[in-house]
Amino acid sequence: MTTAMNIILLGPPGAGKGTQAGYLVEERGMVQLSTGDMLRAARTSGTEMGQKVAAIMDAGQLVTDEIVIGLIAEQLEKGSEGGFIFDGFPRTLAQADALAALLAEKGQTLDAVIQLEVDDETLVQRIVNRAKEAAAAGQPVRADDNAESVKIRLMEYYKKTAPLIGYYYAKGNLTAVDGLADIDTVRASIAAVLEP
Ligand code: AMP
Repeated sequence: MTTAMNIILLGPPGAGKGTQAGYLVEERGMVQLSTGDMLRAARTSGTEMGQKVAAIMDAGQLVTDEIVIGLIAEQLEKGSEGGFIFDGFPRTLAQADALAALLAEKGQTLDAVIQLEVDDETLVQRIVNRAKEAAAAGQPVRADDNAESVKIRLMEYYKKTAPLIGYYYAKGNLTAVDGLADIDTVRASIAAVLEP
């Protein structure tokens, strides 16, 4: 039985956060909290909030802190015996502060922040491939997986999310992992961070 941990997977779009979160759910019984997935679900079910964020998401911009913090707060209420994986959250310093406050309220800790390091060229290629593969398999292609939105998503990342690397480094929480390695190597590197 592994101990429960709360962790953040930090990295730009296309870094492999979702893929690695999936493994952690399987292997460690953790609960994945992907704000991107929650927002897409809200759009599909046609809620008022979903309609409100649709155009912003398709353009590749960030939705408001208030909305995503609300979504996370709601999920944290449910608890998780295996701990939580924050995937695509926090994306701003305000979200990071809010997460710290929410966890503190519950007497919980943030146990690790894993930064998936990748280079920009690879990222763009991965996202374009993700769209191509989905289309070839007859699956829906994310509306924001096009060249224009990808550029904006990357810019949003560098302007608003990349400062979190320094923030968590200063807190002593950060471990960088080579996200360019093959999927199983990344998986093993993450496991090593969680079970030193
Ligand atoms: P993702 O699936 O994580 O790439 O997120 C897809 C889109 O959802 C992003 O481009 C944003 O428009 C929105 N989004 C997801 N998570 C957040 C967040 N933590 N803060 C603001 N916007 C978010």
